[in-house]
Amino acid sequence: MVRMNHRNRTASWWIVFAILALHFHAHGQGAVAWVLMSLQFLIYPHVVYFVARYARDPFKAELNNLRLDDWCFGLWAAWLGFPLWVSYLLVICGCINLAAFRGFRGALEAVALSALGAALSVAVFGFRFEPDTTMPVTALSTACLTVYLLLFARGAYTRAVTLSETRSKLQKSELALQSQLEAVQALQAQLSEQANRDPLTGLYNRRYLNGALSREFDRGAQAGKPLAVLLIDIDHFKQINDQFGHSIGDRVLEDVAALLQVNVRPGDIVCRYGGEEFLVLLPEMDAGTALNRAEGYRAEISMPGAVNATIGKPVTLSIGVACTTDMAANPQQLIDQADEALYQAKLGGRNRCVLYTSAASTAIDSVDVRLPA
Ligand code: GH3
Ligand code: MG
Ligand code: MG
Repeated sequence: MVRMNHRNRTASWWIVFAILALHFHAHGQGAVAWVLMSLQFLIYPHVVYFVARYARDPFKAELNNLRLDDWCFGLWAAWLGFPLWVSYLLVICGCINLAAFRGFRGALEAVALSALGAALSVAVFGFRFEPDTTMPVTALSTACLTVYLLLFARGAYTRAVTLSETRSKLQKSELALQSQLEAVQALQAQLSEQANRDPLTGLYNRRYLNGALSREFDRGAQAGKPLAVLLIDIDHFKQINDQFGHSIGDRVLEDVAALLQVNVRPGDIVCRYGGEEFLVLLPEMDAGTALNRAEGYRAEISMPGAVNATIGKPVTLSIGVACTTDMAANPQQLIDQADEALYQAKLGGRNRCVLYTSAASTAIDSVDVRLPA
């Protein structure tokens, strides 16, 4: 703004200098007037430019320069006896300049400052009223005013175009940022999904289970609804590895994982608990229904050929079942209860489901599902 004003002030004041020179010539002004006019219209623009440029707040300093311009214009207009076209040119340009930065208030301020300058001149040099100007002065003043207004309008137009271009650039970069943000969010979601999944089976991993278990436990406790867990262990899995190799063992794990996910309800959470152990969280499921679900898994997976036919014999599961209806105080206790029931299932000969009860774990034999009394 300071640089722009310096450029405009220097150029336009050269023209004012020419107009006043014509006026002075017509009215036969003395050497002092010529010197003062040269200082005002040729030197002053550069002085105020340097003042504003090196000020702590250049914008504020330049506004003060514009105010000083108006005051000087008033002084000159009154000292010259208010030549109509010259005075009008100076005051209206001063008003427009200040209005461009301060709105209508700026225009009023410019008029007031010009009046103050004029008043000082009248007080010091007396009042003169000589409104007439010669034809060349009038012609040059109106031409100058016309060019000034046109240049001002062009400046406003350029600013409007630049503003709209900047706005559309901003919109474009905002859109680009938005799509980058969406890509980052999608990547984040993908990463967090990967962090929560077991790479071999695609089931939720233990890390996810920890959060889900305490969430479901609290939710069940608040809603007064049960939460059941199934802790599932493949029987003699080490033998499968030893006999058929680790990669066949992996395929057995994948097959079991796939079967555990068949017919799950939307809220059920199937996890790989570790090694050849799985854990199924069953929100809002009572102990009896959970035991039935466990037995369903056990029966289905132990069917000949259900899991990797190449190993030639059925894969069997031992499953420990626990439910919050048996007063587990916290998530860990619920898991411990399921673990205890699983231990009982192993102890009872494997290939069976056992429901934990606080009195004693209830063994369900591999064929007949009996609910605890
Ligand atoms: P039990 O009936 O008492 O559960 O006996 P088990 O052989 O199933 O249990 P054990 O804990 O003795 O052996 C589990 C084996 O599971 C040992 C380990 O090498 C194997 N295992 C753990 N993770 C993986 C895996 O990701 N892939 C394969 N192929 N084997 C695994
Ligand atoms: Mg095990
Ligand atoms: Mg095992």
